[in-house]
Amino acid sequence: YKINMNELMLLEELGKGQYGVVQKVHHVPTGVTMAMKEIRLELDQTKLNQILMELDVLHKSQSPCIVEFYGAFFIESCVYYCMEYMDAGSLDKLYGDGVPEPVLAKITLAMVRGLKFLKDELAIIHRDVKPTNVLVDTKGSVKLCDFGVSGQLEQSLAKTNIGCQSYMAPERITTATASTYTVQSDIWSLGISLVELALGHYPYGGGKFDSVFAQLSAIVNGAPPELPSDRYSQDCRDFVAKCLNKAPTERPTYAQLLDTPWLQKYDKEEVDMAAWVTGALEKKNARAAAQHEAEQATTDQIH
Ligand code: ADP
Repeated sequence: YKINMNELMLLEELGKGQYGVVQKVHHVPTGVTMAMKEIRLELDQTKLNQILMELDVLHKSQSPCIVEFYGAFFIESCVYYCMEYMDAGSLDKLYGDGVPEPVLAKITLAMVRGLKFLKDELAIIHRDVKPTNVLVDTKGSVKLCDFGVSGQLEQSLAKTNIGCQSYMAPERITTATASTYTVQSDIWSLGISLVELALGHYPYGGGKFDSVFAQLSAIVNGAPPELPSDRYSQDCRDFVAKCLNKAPTERPTYAQLLDTPWLQKYDKEEVDMAAWVTGALEKKNARAAAQHEAEQATTDQIH
């Protein structure tokens, strides 16, 4: 089944991506609410067709830990990518001051399962693991999005954007060629994402570094970041430390990660993820309202 723009009713804007907006849309023939991501690229017809063909593999397999792909089409040189709508958005806007260990464990289980699925079923390395690319819904589901399925799309995006490099593993910074990108680099990015979710901020940020160079050199030469011992168990801290081994070949595989005492324990435990998501959304909305009010007050002062 092919989706096209005429069948879509545009609802609201969900966010702005690096290459265009993400919109909530209603697919009239099926009654499904979707998220439609616009990717603005100056590409010729051949390349656009290649991207659509490469995206087609996503129709073949589905996983509960991966945001479902509904279809893509292009208009002029823009690619429109339609996917499952996740009503609580991305984790980067929800973690607040940091997530409690049981929630962190359930998020980790979903991320590791999603990454393992991509690798085993689709032979894909994600290449962009970070909290922004983990979407959640109010039922408590946690799913990965924005993985590098289409080689042509990745290549075209890489050309138009240098991007934020900060989740890059040390070996990617020092070797700087795409060919050295292996599954182990995704495991490093997973570790950095978990530290960010636990601390409530990106570990190499917060004005600690005066330049991108200083930040990258801390990743390459410094000790890897750790979780605070007062709030996270030893099993949890060990898990993160294994992901953040500076030597890529020493990092565990996804199967080994799923087999760790930490994930084994939380796989069996019931955690009310829906309640956590709902609470986190309320706090996010309260923060947005407070900010709006502060801006309003400033405007009133000026007038
Ligand atoms: P980019 O990767 O180009 O920066 P994103 O994928 O991060 O763009 O999209 C921007 C924002 O749109 C996200 O932060 C998220 O809030 C929202 N968004 C993206 N995909 C979805 C989706 N499937 N469901 C709901 N919201 C989404």
